[in-house]
Amino acid sequence: MSQTLFINATIACLDGDSGYGLREDGALLVDTEKIAWVGSMQDSPAAGVAEVVDCKGRLLTPGLIDCHSHLVYGGDRADEFELRLEGASYAEIAQRGGGILSTVNATRSASEAELFEQVLPRLKPLLDEGVTTVEIKSGYGLDSDNEIKMLRVARHIEDELQLRVQKTFLGAHALPPEYADRSDDYIELVCDEMLPNAHAEGLVDAVDVFIESIAFSLAQGAKVLDCAQALGLPFKAHVEQLSDLGGALMAAEKGALSVDHIEYLNETDVARLAQSDTVAVLLPGAFYVLRETRLPPLAALRTQRVPIALATDANPGSSPVHSILLIMNMACTLFRMTPTEALRGVTINAARALGLDQQIGSIVIGKQADIVLWDVDRPSMLSYQVGINPCAGVMQAGTWRSKPGISS
Ligand SMILES: [Zn+2]
Repeated sequence: MSQTLFINATIACLDGDSGYGLREDGALLVDTEKIAWVGSMQDSPAAGVAEVVDCKGRLLTPGLIDCHSHLVYGGDRADEFELRLEGASYAEIAQRGGGILSTVNATRSASEAELFEQVLPRLKPLLDEGVTTVEIKSGYGLDSDNEIKMLRVARHIEDELQLRVQKTFLGAHALPPEYADRSDDYIELVCDEMLPNAHAEGLVDAVDVFIESIAFSLAQGAKVLDCAQALGLPFKAHVEQLSDLGGALMAAEKGALSVDHIEYLNETDVARLAQSDTVAVLLPGAFYVLRETRLPPLAALRTQRVPIALATDANPGSSPVHSILLIMNMACTLFRMTPTEALRGVTINAARALGLDQQIGSIVIGKQADIVLWDVDRPSMLSYQVGINPCAGVMQAGTWRSKPGISS
């Protein structure tokens, strides 16, 4: 039985309904994979512990959680980024093969091994910043074999790296070129073949759909979520990013884990969202890259006490962002969230958005010991600075992934 005792720590437990749950002069005992004890220094159980880490007043938090990403894909879109800034129109970019379909082509032509090689540098900054759980969506394959290939890469990441990966099937992300003008037929393919095939391989932890004028209609989105429900799978949806189609309310009323983006969510629907267990996932990276101006309804979300999570939305087009700490800063700067809300957004509320809040997301006895030691003494430091990574050590399920140089 391996035990680690953290002493002289400032611990952000995130164990209540609001706030940091801050415990100063704290101690934390990890036994094997679990958090065995947390409390104040004077009560700490000292005897028989193999490893003691003196935190010297520094901050401990739960491992951070990126609950919405599209990290697995082929190629990149830097050329398109450059063309656009040099003045090319969307039509010209599309003509040169740009946009989401260029990523679909690059993903389809890449092997599983190539996709795995390409995802590693995207994961590294997240791992370095104390991310211990990441959600990864399919959605650039857009046919059965290629969606399964993407989800296998996500599974391979969990097998190879010390990281928990939640795999989300997003077959209804965009319309593949071979189904142009036949979106109902494609949704049928998603429901009748693609999703059941991926599920049969054990590759689907949850199902997602993009409901938007440029993607799928409310009725098509509802159909995909019904199919997920029929298979007993949890589900979520990209909704109200560019317009208000009522997707958030529809998904929440069906029992979605989360509704994601929601800049255009109206206040009446926020009140109805509050009646559900659905989490609001805000994605400031896409808001920033697309230079959006419509802010998510933060005041209403707060008043109605809807839990808010944050994520990178890491993807090659609208959010090539691979820093969860930058996302926390953007949430504060762009959305005027508080640092407390930002930290809750990448810990306990992100865990809720993945349906994993009984296992991870806070420092509570019995939960998995995903712990980050930071070279700061207050949680606000994590949201406040840009470009400094104060992560000093990461423990994943009780095992060091990167060990601080201070253990005795
Ligand atoms: Zn997304």
